[in-house]
Amino acid sequence: MADVRLKNVTKSFGTVEVIKGVDIDIEDGEFVVFVGPSGCGKSTLLRMIAGLEDITAGTLEIGGRVVNDIQPRERGVAMVFQSYAIFPHMTVRENVAFGLTIAGASRAEKEKKVAEAARILQMEHLLDRRPSQLSGGQRQRVAIGRAIVRDPTVFLFDEPLSNLDAALRMDMRMEIGKLHQTLGATMVYVTHDQVEAMTLADKIVVLRGGEVMQVGSPMDLYHQPANLFVAGFLGSPS
Ligand code: ADP
Ligand code: MG
Repeated sequence: MADVRLKNVTKSFGTVEVIKGVDIDIEDGEFVVFVGPSGCGKSTLLRMIAGLEDITAGTLEIGGRVVNDIQPRERGVAMVFQSYAIFPHMTVRENVAFGLTIAGASRAEKEKKVAEAARILQMEHLLDRRPSQLSGGQRQRVAIGRAIVRDPTVFLFDEPLSNLDAALRMDMRMEIGKLHQTLGATMVYVTHDQVEAMTLADKIVVLRGGEVMQVGSPMDLYHQPANLFVAGFLGSPS
């Protein structure tokens, strides 16, 4: 398990500053949701935490360690992508084991980890199928399974449910909530869906134009939005 701390973090692409000196504290085991309009920097923040994007200025700490220059694989984080990122030519088993395969894990270790992930996600019966033989929700489970086998202390989700239909989104939202309870890992979740944010989050970070507008529990933000932007975004009455 690990906490994640961003201190005055800035990100520029060329001369354009897209993250403007952000401070965010994510406690160990917390479920934190980043919300905000398209282009406000949610994915960029997540990618910096994952190590997929470098930080222009500021400090990123994971588990008490400054990781600015530490390789993604060494950070103990795993990103869950949208379900279409799974490989069509591989079975579910091979897809879930993928990160272990490239890390050179033994066959026995892979089997053990895949079995464990399949049990948690209730997809033991799907392991020999290919993605084309799965429903959208099952595919999303595969994408989550891929992250689980790596035993991350921090899970990062970038709009994982945005290409699922409404009913499935609700099911998967509940599954992700259960997963958080089961694993107790720190989870950072990006969405522009208010319902996902309000139901899943211990803490919501509202972003706008690369800056933090407000941080608080769903109820804090709903009842005491800092400004009209936050109120409008979370659908609160004021
Ligand atoms: P969000 O996920 O909130 O929609 P992003 O983090 O993807 O927003 O993008 C934030 C801003 O950074 C946007 O203005 C986007 O165009 C810009 N941006 C993101 N990635 C790159 C990149 N690789 N090169 C240049 N600009 C980028
Ligand atoms: Mg994005």
